Amino acid sequence: MTDANPVLLSFGGNLGNVEKTFDSALRNLEKGGFHPTACSRIYRSAAMGCEPGAPDFRNRSVLGTWNAAPEDLLTLIQRLEVEAGRPANHPHWVSRPLDIDILVMGNLIRKTERLTLPHPEITRRDFVILPSAEIAPDLPLPGLNMTFSELADIWRRSRKIECVPCSGK
Ligand code: ADP
Ligand code: MG
Repeated sequence: MTDANPVLLSFGGNLGNVEKTFDSALRNLEKGGFHPTACSRIYRSAAMGCEPGAPDFRNRSVLGTWNAAPEDLLTLIQRLEVEAGRPANHPHWVSRPLDIDILVMGNLIRKTERLTLPHPEITRRDFVILPSAEIAPDLPLPGLNMTFSELADIWRRSRKIECVPCSGK
């Protein structure tokens, strides 16, 4: 592991053919220089905080490597979100075809206007923790001294799991 690798991403979306959108986002990330090494199953969960009647969300975690600046990965991700139909200036809690969050980049800890690492919402989201524990159980969460498998265990013991795998791959 170098300072900024491995990289763990979370894909999410609840509009359109999300599985297809995830596949093409992954191909485009590869074209942009991201090297995927593992991909979780897709999990389904009810939309939280979105407009009434919003479709369920699909989420998957993707592990890989990135050998340029973290901000360049965020720029690439934001371009792919817009290409998938998400407005460039979007409110926080609304339905969207594609959202990609950078969960962890190696042991980097940072907080700038554009990028916070690790992603600040990880510990509050089962749809991030469970797929991540599937592909990166031993990955530590910098600053928290916990792995994703430990986080998933805590979540399973103490909370109601709302998020279930919806595909066998
Ligand atoms: P969420 O992903 O929590 O639903 P949004 O995707 O709407 O929220 O938030 C996007 C904003 O979050 C972007 O403006 C981006 O600059 C910022 N951001 C900060 N840290 C990260 C990160 N680790 N991964 C992705 N976006 C991030
Ligand atoms: Mg996001």
